[in-house]
Amino acid sequence: KKPIIAIDGPAGAGKSTISRKLAHELGLLYLDTGAMYRAITWLVIDKQISLEDTEAIALEVAGATIELYPSDDLKLPVTVRVNQRDVTKEIRTPAVTRNVSGIAAQKAVREKLVKLQQIYGQQGGIIAEGRDIGTNVFPDADLKIFLTASVKARAKRRSHDLAQQGETNIDLQQLEADIAQRDFLDSTRELAPLQQAPDAIAINTDNLTIEQVIEKIKQFMG
Ligand code: C5P
Repeated sequence: KKPIIAIDGPAGAGKSTISRKLAHELGLLYLDTGAMYRAITWLVIDKQISLEDTEAIALEVAGATIELYPSDDLKLPVTVRVNQRDVTKEIRTPAVTRNVSGIAAQKAVREKLVKLQQIYGQQGGIIAEGRDIGTNVFPDADLKIFLTASVKARAKRRSHDLAQQGETNIDLQQLEADIAQRDFLDSTRELAPLQQAPDAIAINTDNLTIEQVIEKIKQFMG
């Protein structure tokens, strides 16, 4: 069977860039599970449903179709469609980022998305990236990596990304505060909190380049 690789960790630890490059190099499917939680968050905001209205959210989620199309071009993010609408750009806005943890903590949301993620991984040959891949989505993954980095390093990377996207008004302290807040919410929630699986290999990426992290992961693959 083709391998399943789980890459978990907090926001900004380098999961996306590293998972995408590695999947590209190894010819595996890249699954960005955060994009799915973002897509639901976008939908809830778009429908003007209150983020606390778990019943209305559950109903909306039950009827929603979510599709991911990873791009062959490493510079392009995964294309995301919700109910046939392309929301690739919309899911990266500050409003979605600020509210996604509250949506991702809801049972109906997680149940639907975890099932969908497991379908993507049925045939193996996948690198899945998120918060609960090794602990919950693919507990039998062939390799589990837990990426970490200091809040400072992660905020710096985010500001670099934003600058590249043409953003000129970047508040580093605000970025740090936002990242710390999302870490807190994601790791203290009841359902499938952000956590290192007991059999995961932790890699701190503070002083490593993307290429160095990819090399390390390849070594663990044997
Ligand atoms: O990775 P990304 O920053 O796009 O993830 C957005 C949010 O989605 C996370 O902050 C978390 O609340 C949620 N998430 C999750 N479980 C995953 C992936 C993401 O709860 N497997």
